[in-house]
Amino acid sequence: MSTGVYRVPPPMNEPVRGYTRGSPERASLERELARQSGEVAEIPCLIGGRRVFTGRTHDLVMPHNHSHLLARVHLAGPAEIAAAIQAAEDARAEWAALPLEQRTAVFLKAAELLAGPWRDRVNAATMLGQSKTVHQAEIDSACELIDFWRFNAMFAFQIAADQPPVSPTGVWNRVDHRPLDGFVFAVTPFNFTSIAGNLPTAPAFLGNTCVWKPATTSAHACWVLAQLLEAAGLPPGVVNLVNGAGAEVGDQVVADPRLAGVHFTGSTPVFQHLWRTIGQGIAGYRQYPRLVGETGGKDFILAHPSADATAVSVAILRGAFEYQGQKCSAASRMYLPRSLWPAIREQLVAGVEGMKQGDVADFTNFLGAVIDQRAFKKHQGYLEHGNRGAECVAGGTADGSRGWFVRPTVFRVDDPRDRLMQEEIFGPIATVWVYDDARWDDALREVDQTSPYALTGAVFATDRRAVDQATERLRFAAGNFYVNDKPTGAVVGQQPFGGSRASGTNDKAGSILNLLRWSSARTIKETFVPPTSWRYPFHEEP
Ligand code: NAD
Repeated sequence: MSTGVYRVPPPMNEPVRGYTRGSPERASLERELARQSGEVAEIPCLIGGRRVFTGRTHDLVMPHNHSHLLARVHLAGPAEIAAAIQAAEDARAEWAALPLEQRTAVFLKAAELLAGPWRDRVNAATMLGQSKTVHQAEIDSACELIDFWRFNAMFAFQIAADQPPVSPTGVWNRVDHRPLDGFVFAVTPFNFTSIAGNLPTAPAFLGNTCVWKPATTSAHACWVLAQLLEAAGLPPGVVNLVNGAGAEVGDQVVADPRLAGVHFTGSTPVFQHLWRTIGQGIAGYRQYPRLVGETGGKDFILAHPSADATAVSVAILRGAFEYQGQKCSAASRMYLPRSLWPAIREQLVAGVEGMKQGDVADFTNFLGAVIDQRAFKKHQGYLEHGNRGAECVAGGTADGSRGWFVRPTVFRVDDPRDRLMQEEIFGPIATVWVYDDARWDDALREVDQTSPYALTGAVFATDRRAVDQATERLRFAAGNFYVNDKPTGAVVGQQPFGGSRASGTNDKAGSILNLLRWSSARTIKETFVPPTSWRYPFHEEP
């Protein structure tokens, strides 16, 4: 048994690699892209450390080339789901009993494996399976996940060090930061491999075990991550990977009385469904399940007449169209002053026309395809709505013949409450409302009241009074608020991420606030010399 109050290595953000032409990192990644493109992977469930091939499979294709079969995903049925829950329960006591430094070392090693020998595998799987360009894959599946693991290590130790400030003479007050008294259900979205890796592991830092259900469309990268965690020494049963349709897996898992928490990222309706189901069955659980959910967004860019038109235009082009607008933080409703509109409009049109789109293995492309046919059809519906009732400033088309390609699109609406300004589209479709310069106050009100979401938003202004007004008036309109910067690209350890209203429980991924949700503290009071009489001093002795 070793003794020491250990300190974790101070975390640093992983530098983003450039993958410029002729660089060794680009050559190495291209080899891995070719390797993964040349095979059809068989993706099992991972239950208690066992690879489970169920034979009931789902074909995974490349979104930008949907005739290319990338993998066959083996789907869990009721027996596998039950086995995954049991495996998480069976692993719980031993994992929780492992000293914090031993658990933490697993994830610090995982971070170094991802920073080094596994980087290409994870990046290539994310590019091919989720249609991310190299930069989008690098900042997500490499850098952000490395950062989650390095910073969560520090936060876990900070939580352990958080002890009652007072122990009067003769008493020692302590807090035991226990894990939750059951398993955690981690449900992850298709669009960020980093989130997929963080959601099951953040609770595990604190000693919890998980059932992890990734989005099937991201199964390729998630399976690589599961193998990486094995290679880092994560014991069997701590994270159990089950593939399957959301409702099939979800309904069975949340019906289990041992459910202790849900760590969810995805759409608002699915999280509300989970919350409702758990609420209806609340009397049946062994404890009150902790519900942590980061959900949809309808993120804004508001420009003041004093803003710099080029800064606004670049923020829209990057913020709305990177990763085809499939970021919860993607800019999708813009409030622009009439005086700046002609200059911004010109730059948006030129920008959209210059954006190449296609196979993500071609590094000249700025955009790939949207994730699947369902998303493509949904976006087609929004394009039809916009082309019918709004001005199409740029783009406005889609072509699904080879891949699910939706052109980056800018619509301009007259009605600031148009559907396009309210609903989460989750595609490369941005909508602009142009306001009279004198109506800045109205613009602030529209930003705050138009959409049910409150995830990210940005204000552009050089006038400090305008920055101050927007900061105050939009205090509850975004959990991540940007001044003269695009509303995407939060960095772990720098901008803790999450929103409120319909955007989630705002438990700030990448911060100590999130990790705290996975600890159920036990207070211990120890009295060194217990009293010998039940009488208090004011009682007279007989
Ligand atoms: P989604 O809601 O369709 O799916 C998310 C996950 O939930 C998937 O694993 C899915 O299979 C699962 N699921 C679906 N129905 C379920 C059910 N009944 N029970 C249990 N699980 C179920 O979302 P998506 O399309 O994968 O991701 C896009 C959404 O995620 C967008 O709304 C986006 O804004 C949101 N998102 C939010 C954040 C954030 O931090 N706020 C980050 C990324 C994505």
